[in-house]
Amino acid sequence: MINNKRSEKLFDKAKKIMPGGVNSPVRAFKSVGMNPLFISRGAGSHIWDVDGNEYIDYVMSWGPLILGHSHPDVVDAVKMQVELGTSFGACTELEVEMAEKVVNAVPSCDIVRMVNSGTEATMSAIRLSRGYTGRDIIVKFAGCYHGHSDSLLIKAGSGALTFGSPDSKGVTKETAKDTIIARYNDVKMIEDIFLNFGDKIAGVIVEPVAGNMGTVKPKEEFLKALRELTKKYEALLIFDEVMSGFRVSYASAQGLYGIIPDLTTLGKIIGGGLPVGAYGGREDIMRMISPDGPVYQAGTLSGNPLAMAAGLMTLNILSKNPELYEEINKKAERLCNGLEESMKQNGIPVTINRVGTMMCMFFNEEPVYDYDTAVKSNTDMYEKYFKEMIKRGIYLPPSQFETFFLSTAHTDIDIEKTIKASFEAAKCLKMY
Ligand code: PMP
Repeated sequence: MINNKRSEKLFDKAKKIMPGGVNSPVRAFKSVGMNPLFISRGAGSHIWDVDGNEYIDYVMSWGPLILGHSHPDVVDAVKMQVELGTSFGACTELEVEMAEKVVNAVPSCDIVRMVNSGTEATMSAIRLSRGYTGRDIIVKFAGCYHGHSDSLLIKAGSGALTFGSPDSKGVTKETAKDTIIARYNDVKMIEDIFLNFGDKIAGVIVEPVAGNMGTVKPKEEFLKALRELTKKYEALLIFDEVMSGFRVSYASAQGLYGIIPDLTTLGKIIGGGLPVGAYGGREDIMRMISPDGPVYQAGTLSGNPLAMAAGLMTLNILSKNPELYEEINKKAERLCNGLEESMKQNGIPVTINRVGTMMCMFFNEEPVYDYDTAVKSNTDMYEKYFKEMIKRGIYLPPSQFETFFLSTAHTDIDIEKTIKASFEAAKCLKMY
């Protein structure tokens, strides 16, 4: 096993003074049955823990770091801005530049408002969809995660076509009554929901590429049906592109698939590794937001200069070098082929889903296309695999139901090392 004495010591201390010892649950490594590693440094595709162990990182801060850790130009942009001031709570040129960048790239965004996290972005988009339509019901899909605002922390109720129930203590039943949970990629179900509740539905929120039940691809007819049904019933279609935005293509998933929602939420990449979120969309809807309109939303640190500087530099690099997407997608394809082969040769059934540089290896014989098929995966196997890989210096997401991310900093050597480690890990899995 790796030497992680300092991480263990820090975790002991953290547990006494922080809930679960962490500031976000997945960091506790509970799904992989070990204590978390404390990270001290990152450069390019690599991270180092406090005990000095080095890893090739496939979490990349859960998606934001498409250029890798501490990209020199991003670091310089942040340093320059720190010298000028970290926050003013007033208008800056950087915010206007960022809005221009987003509006020019993301097809649905006529105008955009910056916030501080993905949770804030989706929460605000939901409020806006209710304010605009004058209706209450929101439809979301099982397995999609949109942050932790009350309306979206809802799980499926009992039986199909029923309203949801709270997915966390502290969320009221009243709130759950306004959220319907549907099945991802199931056109018939969403049609039935609209037949029954069409005139009460304010909006449908969806990850156009799902990344929070592992990676799940949308079927073409699914996104198309969502677009047609919301239009027909005058509800809003909200693409939550916090994860897929600027990742699956510079024009995001909506550009990739050619389906244009009414509202889009963003985060992660547009902050270049600093805290950020955004929501944008059709102008007549977005003009409902305060101070133009009656839907209130605000933020002391919104459009924060450091986040704008890091995000703008990241987007500038991506827009000036469109070939980067093709390059990293090819690397991702090679990685997936190698991982699949490592399991195949050892007789371990897996299903690999990938869209661009979002990917996941499910320990699952069957295709994974929604939450029900994802949860059939063998999480014990994933736990074992994770531990074997971490021993070999490969840092994978600490849960079967998360997405692996690649960055432009991942080299061919990184990919080769990872595939080699996966072959060794697969041999060990066979022996369990
Ligand atoms: N939406 C999606 C699709 C996400 O993946 C996430 C976070 N992983 C969120 C919303 C919430 O973002 P945040 O953690 O920044 O609040």
